[in-house]
Amino acid sequence: MSAYYQIATIQTFQIDFNLQKPMNTITFNKPYMTGKETHYMYKAVESGKISGNGIYTQKCQRLFEEKFSFRKTLLTTSCTDALEMAAILLDIQPDDEVIVPSFTFVSTANAFVLHGAKIVFADSETDTPNIDADKIEALITSKTKAIVPVHYAGMACDMKKIMEIATRHGIFVVEDAAQAIDSYHNGQALGSIGHLAAFSFHETKNIISGEGGMLVINDERFSQRAEIIWEKGTNRAAFFRGDVNKYGWVDKGSSFLPSDIIAAFLYAQLENLEIIQTQRKLLWDNYLKNLKSLEIEGFINLPRVPKYATNNAHMFYITVSNLDVRTRLIAHLKANRIMAVFHYLSLHKSPFYAEKHDGRDLTQSDIFEETIIRLPLFFELSLGELKKVTDSINDFFLERRVN
Ligand SMILES: *Cc1c(COP(=O)(O)O)cnc(C)c1O
Repeated sequence: MSAYYQIATIQTFQIDFNLQKPMNTITFNKPYMTGKETHYMYKAVESGKISGNGIYTQKCQRLFEEKFSFRKTLLTTSCTDALEMAAILLDIQPDDEVIVPSFTFVSTANAFVLHGAKIVFADSETDTPNIDADKIEALITSKTKAIVPVHYAGMACDMKKIMEIATRHGIFVVEDAAQAIDSYHNGQALGSIGHLAAFSFHETKNIISGEGGMLVINDERFSQRAEIIWEKGTNRAAFFRGDVNKYGWVDKGSSFLPSDIIAAFLYAQLENLEIIQTQRKLLWDNYLKNLKSLEIEGFINLPRVPKYATNNAHMFYITVSNLDVRTRLIAHLKANRIMAVFHYLSLHKSPFYAEKHDGRDLTQSDIFEETIIRLPLFFELSLGELKKVTDSINDFFLERRVN
């Protein structure tokens, strides 16, 4: 009986699996492997040292620091972890206030909530989902400890304004640069501008290691302590460098460092950064070209790259006029076996935070919540598949005159 049950279950699973993934479906994302990942992972294993802060961790960190002028970097197991390290470094205490855009991923706020912070949600700009720098100053009180701008789609927030405000009020800036690798603000790499910054190498980002992240420490005052927090509250990193002759428990911390096997995977990706970025930008530019006429005719809005920002082609999104159009467009694409998705639900209205929020309406965040559609964008997406996506969107609007 139980053997029969098992067989039946397996068969059901296989049938479901086939239904969900027909051969010609255009998926939303597909992680790209450059080819060297397993080779470097093998070398890490062969070296006999596979815990954290090994050869590949240091290779990655050095490469990031040199290429992007980051003062100091520490690989972490995720961007979420890097943000949690930032909260510890800033010594966030109960009732400290942290200004965070409402239109972001949960971790941007949650990292600070873990330490009792009150999140003061900020609205987005009208023409990008990024935090509206002009609305930040009104949110600052004597309790404000930090601002956490998120570079949505890898495009810079107005960092000049944000850093000026932070300096004037003596508060810290933590860049949530999860999506922003190899992107710039007036020539400066994103992640090199705030006191601290956090990157993600989750498989949905441009450069990946499955799960993975990095803390950037640009303010030297945090350098030593960051290393200690990273290594479970010990000065182990200083010990292995030969800076101290024994190591022990010197501060609070946790285990934030990834295995060197993960860093080895990431190193292969990093070596191919230019190739990955060039291909993603080619795809992004083609999306823009193929959808331009729909914008001119007033059916959609295309993403705007601010004048101080570059585009790292992390994401291609469009916005439509309302939730109903978006729901129907996503369904239309799905019927054509194209997986397109919406994005964040405003955090100020989330089940966890709605009652703690101070009640302000955040109109732009809510508009992006309802009108953004993200289109398939990954290294191996062919131009033919991309055209199928844009043809399908053009058909939706032009044949049905949906507005
Ligand atoms: C992906 C992402 C994160 C979380 O990254 P993890 O590495 O999965 O922890 C945080 N913030 C933003 C804006 C992201 O896009």
